[in-house]
Amino acid sequence: MAPSPEPILILGGGLMGLAIAHQLARRGQALVLLSRRRSEAAGFVAAGMLAPHAEGLTGALLQLGQASLARVPAWVAQIEADSGLSCGLRNCGIVVPFRTPGDRDRYPTAAWGSKLDRSELEREVPGIGADWQAGLLFAQDGQIDNRRQLMRALERACARLGVQFQEGSEVQELLKGPRGELQAVRLITAEGENLTLPCSQAVLAGGAWSAQLLPELPVFPVKGQMLSLQAPKGALERVVFGPGTYLVPREDGLLVVGATSEPEAGFGEGLTPDGQRTPIGGAGPEAPPAFHRRPLIGGR
Ligand SMILES: Cc1cc2nc3c(=O)[nH]c(=O)nc-3n(C[C@H](O)[C@H](O)[C@H](O)COP(=O)(O)OP(=O)(O)OC[C@H]3O[C@@H](n4cnc5c(N)ncnc54)[C@H](O)[C@@H]3O)c2cc1C
Repeated sequence: MAPSPEPILILGGGLMGLAIAHQLARRGQALVLLSRRRSEAAGFVAAGMLAPHAEGLTGALLQLGQASLARVPAWVAQIEADSGLSCGLRNCGIVVPFRTPGDRDRYPTAAWGSKLDRSELEREVPGIGADWQAGLLFAQDGQIDNRRQLMRALERACARLGVQFQEGSEVQELLKGPRGELQAVRLITAEGENLTLPCSQAVLAGGAWSAQLLPELPVFPVKGQMLSLQAPKGALERVVFGPGTYLVPREDGLLVVGATSEPEAGFGEGLTPDGQRTPIGGAGPEAPPAFHRRPLIGGR
């Protein structure tokens, strides 16, 4: 794609907005990134699992996930070269535990994983509860430290490539011409000023909020709460993707434990006692570090 002479607007500075801005900026495109609130982007809280096989995807979604996964190392290398920062990509593999070998063999992506019996599962996930008798190891899946590394590296790469950030700008409306073509966006700046910014091209990357600007999009919010524990470095090497709970060990021992799934919470922010109890309850019966106790992961 040849760069367009006028800047393209990126609406939203989460993972998608930043990733698209980075790729366009590498092609020499001038860009303005409008972001309401950096800290509300899901990329700053997500677990960063790269898990199309562990999640048991099927059909076209699995193919998309596999194609994406194959591109991640080259993509990360670009971001690291442009930013000078590490993204925290770890090819650590993901283990999915099952109560029975039958459950394991029926898993939609079983054919892409290595089958683990109880002793192999224990070797991969030391101390896993005795309820878990089988597992699948997806060595090709992994994780990235999105919250502490990837998002920052993307921001730095974009800034270095000349992307103009307008943090604190809330896009109110897309203004269209008679044939539905984009003509401008109306926004409120960080200073509270109402502004109309003419543009013919924009990328809508507003995450869960995108339907507020394009109501025809089938996008809605699902709130997720998670917590992190500091475990000894190397206590757990693999990501464990259990039913209802997952454990994501970062390089330095930080253990990300997720997550609730709360469609009824809408855009509600903040943590709730229930929301924090759910992931920890799935990881073990008591407070941290309980992931060595039974059950490792709550009932399916
Ligand atoms: C708890 C949890 C765990 C997750 N774990 C994983 C995981 O392990 N693996 C995985 O692949 N995915 C995971 N995800 C999903 C992943 O985080 C999201 O798919 C991804 O971050 C979405 O990126 P996005 O850029 O589309 O949206 P977001 O990151 O939410 O960014 C949207 C941005 O747009 C801005 N915005 C919205 N409306 C406007 C407006 N009108 N004007 C200006 N700016 C606006 C917001 O301020 C925000 O910064 C998880 C999500 C959650 C919540």
